[in-house]
Amino acid sequence: MKCRYCDNEAVYPDGLCERCHQAEVENRGASVLSDDERDNFKGQTINEDGTVYEEKKEQEESQSNVHIYMTHGLPLRIKLAIGFIIFCVLAIIISALGFLILALPYLLGGAVIVLVYQIVKTLLRHR
Ligand SMILES: [Zn+2]
Repeated sequence: MKCRYCDNEAVYPDGLCERCHQAEVENRGASVLSDDERDNFKGQTINEDGTVYEEKKEQEESQSNVHIYMTHGLPLRIKLAIGFIIFCVLAIIISALGFLILALPYLLGGAVIVLVYQIVKTLLRHR
């Protein structure tokens, strides 16, 4: 099918080639193709190429995109929130462990001193 305005092949459903269609779209004041126009453009070029596989592949890709969006769209926020909470808890635990490791000699020394003091006290009481 020829373009209504020139001799190029018409690829849009309004009977225009890509160049004339683009010009008309710009005349209408729209710079971006609508989803329908883009889909029709893709579908027509795919049909002209005669590759049904491409069309199927495209559908599978869009389906997988939807799938990814469904599985990772909204739950991602929840995962991030859970991950952030786990990160905070781990940070607190690690810092507490680090503090314990730093304070361990003093704690052990204090525990030994208290233990010795208690033993000495009980020994003194027994006498
Ligand atoms: Zn044209």
